[in-house]
Amino acid sequence: MRAISMLSALCLFTVLSACDVGSGVGYGDDGRLSTQEAMRNFSEVVGRVEPVAEQECRKDAPQLNCDFLIQLDKRRSAPENAYQSLDENGRPVITFTLALITGTENADELAFVLSHEAAHHIRDHLARQRRNAEAGAVVFAGLATLTGGTEADVANAQKLGAAVGARTYSKEFELEADELGTIIAYRAGFNPLIGANYFTRIPDPGDRFLGTHPPNAERIATVKRTARRLGF
Ligand SMILES: [Zn+2]
Repeated sequence: MRAISMLSALCLFTVLSACDVGSGVGYGDDGRLSTQEAMRNFSEVVGRVEPVAEQECRKDAPQLNCDFLIQLDKRRSAPENAYQSLDENGRPVITFTLALITGTENADELAFVLSHEAAHHIRDHLARQRRNAEAGAVVFAGLATLTGGTEADVANAQKLGAAVGARTYSKEFELEADELGTIIAYRAGFNPLIGANYFTRIPDPGDRFLGTHPPNAERIATVKRTARRLGF
């Protein structure tokens, strides 16, 4: 029982943390859009990207709920972030914070971030990551049991296994979302090559072992490769 509730707690953590793209760091007042300009950009971008994302979703993942809800977290205290989650009915929700939309430099960047988050849903990354976490927990708990671990050792191994499992493919998921995000942003009439410049300003996570995000250079290379394939 305890193991099950621990697992569901871990999965909840995973669901909430899977899709961060923001840096959590502002750029200083001078480089930022005014709230009014940012809100205008945001509603224009949502109006153009959402129908394309929905269309891609219905084509590539008809088994999923493709009725995207895109919302703005207006709390000024919320750090720069955008993330995808699912509501209790499986409806995809994409949340932007005010700090993110005022931190993007143009509509192409905002469109790219939105397309990237929509791509996470279309590729079903939350469910795939949850399955990886569950599989990791089972494998690590099995190893701890085999080596004669106590109940506490097994519980710790399960927790570690879930964390390792959840992170195993997260860099691949990010690059998949960049690839499909490039396609969605392009079809919505935005320039993903300009949009991907957003990554050049957020801190580069480098190539850390089990880090959740790929190095920025790898992300830019993915966008450029996809752009060449699309012919622009
Ligand atoms: Zn992401």
